[in-house]
Amino acid sequence: MSESFEPITSLFGKNVFNDVVMRERLPENVYKEFKKTIAESRFLDTALAGVVANAMKDWALEKNATHFCHWFQPMTGLTAEKHDSFISPTAEGRTIMEFSGKELIQGEPDASSFPSGGLRATFEARGYTAWDCTSPVFIKETGKNVTLYIPCAFCSYNAEALDKKTPLLRSMDALNKQAIRALKILGNSTSKNISATLGPEQEYFLIDKKFFEKRLDLMLAGRTLFGAPTPRGQEMCDHYFGPLHERVASFMHDVNIELWKLGVSAKTQHNEVSPAQYELAPVFSTVNVATDHNQLVMETLQKVALRHNFVCLLHEKPFVGVNGSGKHNNWSMVTDDGINLLEPGKTPHDNMVFLVILCAVVKAVDKYAKLLRASVATAGNDHRLGANEAPPAIVSIFLGDQLTDIVEQLAEGAAQSSKTGGHLKLGVSVLPPLPKDCTDRNRTSPFAFTGNKFEFRMVGSGQSTAGPMFVLNTIVADVLKEIADELEKSSNVKASTQKILSKIAKEHQRIIFNGDNYTEEWAKEAAKRGLPNIKSTVESLKTIMDEENVQLFINHNVLSKAELKARTEILLEAYSMIINIEAKTTLNMAQRLILPTAIEYSTKLAKAVKNINDAGGNSETQKKILDDVCELVSALKNNIESLKKATAEACKVDNSAKRAESYRDNVIPAMGKVRQVADSLEMIVDAKMWPLPTYAEMLFIR
Ligand code: ADP
Ligand code: MG
Repeated sequence: MSESFEPITSLFGKNVFNDVVMRERLPENVYKEFKKTIAESRFLDTALAGVVANAMKDWALEKNATHFCHWFQPMTGLTAEKHDSFISPTAEGRTIMEFSGKELIQGEPDASSFPSGGLRATFEARGYTAWDCTSPVFIKETGKNVTLYIPCAFCSYNAEALDKKTPLLRSMDALNKQAIRALKILGNSTSKNISATLGPEQEYFLIDKKFFEKRLDLMLAGRTLFGAPTPRGQEMCDHYFGPLHERVASFMHDVNIELWKLGVSAKTQHNEVSPAQYELAPVFSTVNVATDHNQLVMETLQKVALRHNFVCLLHEKPFVGVNGSGKHNNWSMVTDDGINLLEPGKTPHDNMVFLVILCAVVKAVDKYAKLLRASVATAGNDHRLGANEAPPAIVSIFLGDQLTDIVEQLAEGAAQSSKTGGHLKLGVSVLPPLPKDCTDRNRTSPFAFTGNKFEFRMVGSGQSTAGPMFVLNTIVADVLKEIADELEKSSNVKASTQKILSKIAKEHQRIIFNGDNYTEEWAKEAAKRGLPNIKSTVESLKTIMDEENVQLFINHNVLSKAELKARTEILLEAYSMIINIEAKTTLNMAQRLILPTAIEYSTKLAKAVKNINDAGGNSETQKKILDDVCELVSALKNNIESLKKATAEACKVDNSAKRAESYRDNVIPAMGKVRQVADSLEMIVDAKMWPLPTYAEMLFIR
C-alpha cells in the first residue's frame, strides 16, 4: 500500500531509461548524437553505443538490477526474453559488472524453437536480436528478479524477419516516406517526419482463481469448452460502466501503478458489457511503442490478477452467450511538429491535407479489405467476428454524416461545404448547452472514424497489435505513394488533387457504411456492393498470398515473398494447433470428468428407482429422468468417439491449409456436439455432483 502514496508524477516512468534520464546521465554530445540517430532513423555506431550501454548499466545497478535481456516479439504473438547477468568474473576470483555496446545493440539467441514457417530448418539455429532504439529501455521487477529490458527486433541468420516488430518498423518507414512526399507536394514545408500513432483499448475478463484452477479448458485453451448458459447474462446492461467492485478496483489500482512505473500511460478503465469483463486504455503513442506497451499491459494484467486471486482472461471469447473481447486499435498519423493528419478541423471540406489522408485510407481499406481481414484472422477471433456483438467479418468504414456528405460531394466533383453539429439543449436550466459533435458514433462498425482518428475494432483481445498495424500502415502508404507519384508529375497540384479525390470518392464509396453492421440486410447489401465477407480464419489466411499483397509488401520493403509465405504458414499452423489443443482438452474433460459424473448420477437414479419400487412407491418420474440421463450418456460417448476420429484424421493431413480446413470442417463441429450433450447434462445432473464451476459462478462471483 505504501507505494500508492508516492506521487504519480514521480512514480511515472521511474523504471524507464527515458529522455530525462538520458539527458542526466549521458555526456551532452552523446545525448545529442543519440537523439539525432533516432530522429534520422539511422544505426547507432558501436562506440556511441558503448557509452550509452555503460550509462544504462549504472542506472540499472542503482535500481538493483542484476541482469539484462533482449526483449523481442517472435511469431507466437507473445514476447520472449533470455536474461544475462552483468557479472564478468575477474582473474582474482571476484566479479565486476559489465555491459558493452555490442551487448546492447545485438544478441544471438538460439532461434530454432521459435515459429519460422519454413524460413529455416531446425538445425539452422542462429537468430539475431537487434536493439530498437525507438522504444525505450526499461527495468522490470518480477518477484525478486530485477532485469534491464532492451526492446529488440528478431531476425534469422539471413536477415529474414522472424518477429512482429521488424515488419512494423519497416511499415512505419514506408508510411513516413510516402506521407511526407504527399505532404510536401501539398505545401507543408515544416514537417520532417510522420509517425503512425496507436491507442489500443484492451478488453479482458477477470474470474476468481479458484474457478480457473478447476477448469482445464480455461487453463489450456483460454476459453470455456463446456458450460450451460447462465440464467442471467448481460441482458440487463447493468455491468457496462457500472460502479467498480472493490476487489476489481484494487486490482486496477495495482495494475496502473505497475504500468505507470514502466512509463505506460494507463488512462481509462471501466466495466465492459459482459459481467466480469473490463477495459483498459492508455494514452496513444507511436505505433511501435504502443505495441510494446500493449504487450506489457497484457502481461501486467495477468501478473497482477494473480496477486488478487483473480485470473485475467485475454481470449477473444472465454464464454459463450456473452460478449467476447476485442482490442480497439485507434490509429492516426502525426507529424514531428505535432499535426494530427486526421484532424478534420472546423471546415474539413477545404482541408486539403485531411481530405487526401482520409481518401487514402478509404481507398486503402477498400482495395485491401481482404488483407485487413486476414490481419485479424485467428482461431479465437472467429468466435467474435460475425457473431452478434463484435463487428462482422465484412470490412466497411463508418465516416458519419459530415464526412460521408463530403465524400459524396467529392464524388460529384468538389466539396463545397461541411455540415456542422450545433448545440444540444437538454431542457434543464442548470445544464449548459453542449456542443454537439458533427457525427454520431457507431458501435457496430469494424473501422470507424471517431473525430480525429480511425478505430479498427476487429483486432482480437489476445492478439499483438503489430500485425494489423503493419498492414494498415502499408496499405495506406501504398495509396499515398500512388497519390504522390501523380501529384509530383502535375503542373497544377490543386486541380490534380481535386481530380484524384473525386476519383477515389467515386470508386471507393462502396466501402462506406454508416448503418447497423449487425443486420442481415447489411450482409446482403454488402454482397451487392461486392464487398468480401470472409467468415473463417482459414478462408481469410488463404488470401494473404494473393499477388497484389505480395507486390504490396515487396514494393514497400515490408516483407519479402518468402517472409510473407512463412507468416501465412505460421498462422495456418497456429490455427490447427489451437483447435487441436481445444479438441484434446474437450476429450479429456468429457471422458474424465463429465462422463464419470453422468454415470455416477445415473447410478444414483437407478438406485432410487429400485428403492422406490422395493418400497412399493411410484418411480415413474425417477425412471424418466434416468432414461434421459442414460440417453445423454450414450450420446456423449458416441460424440466423444466421433471427435476422437475427426481429430486423428485432421492431424494426419499434410498440407497446412488442408489441415486447417479439416480442423474447421470436421473437428470444430465434432467438438460442438460433445459440448452440446455435456451442457444438456449440466442442466439435469445434481448440482452438488457437477465437477466444473458454472458460468454463473465464474461470471458473477468476485
Ligand atoms: P472510446 O470512447 O472509443 O472507448 P477510449 O477513450 O476508451 O475511447 O480510447 C480511445 C483511445 O484512442 C485512447 O487510447 C486514446 O489515447 C486514443 N487516441 C486518441 N487520439 C488518438 C490519435 N490521434 N491516434 C491514435 N490514438 C488516439
Ligand atoms: Mg473505450
